[in-house]
Amino acid sequence: MVGDAEPGIFVGKLKDILQYSVKDPLKYVINWGRIYSLWPVHLETACCSVEWGAVSGPRFDIERWGMLGAFGSLRQCDVLIVLGTVNRKMAPRVRMIYDQMPEPKYVIAIGACACSGGLYFDSYSVLPGVDTILPVDIYVTGCPPRPEQFIQGLVMLQNKILSSNIR
Ligand code: SF4
Repeated sequence: MVGDAEPGIFVGKLKDILQYSVKDPLKYVINWGRIYSLWPVHLETACCSVEWGAVSGPRFDIERWGMLGAFGSLRQCDVLIVLGTVNRKMAPRVRMIYDQMPEPKYVIAIGACACSGGLYFDSYSVLPGVDTILPVDIYVTGCPPRPEQFIQGLVMLQNKILSSNIR
């Protein structure tokens, strides 16, 4: 049975597909491939990483959205996920990880600490947001954010990639 909401979602999705694919078919196909084969690097420094564990597990199953749960090599990854507090001593290493990833690459900041320093925003040793050293594409707020919020951030990133120019 189809519920009341599904036809509206289906029509909206179909409209998006037609809009993107008719205007620029090559761009659409390349970006469509990218959004369902996202390979992440996780930088897990604090409590938010527990939520990521839930997102990777069978209950939320991130792979059905088109992102791998975990991957080994930085040089094949295109999404840097920063989960937790980033201190100033760690910042050059975080930037080094980002620099080793190939283009096009994206950054998702998860949780108040990664987005803005969180509880430690005025600490001498903690960055007031990872965007002081990296270009962040999506901010997922919360302390910690729930797995559903993480998935919402992933969908927002996919929408951003789908409408982006090919580099
Ligand atoms: S945002 Fe909250 S849960 Fe996440 S790392 Fe910071 S203190 Fe921990």
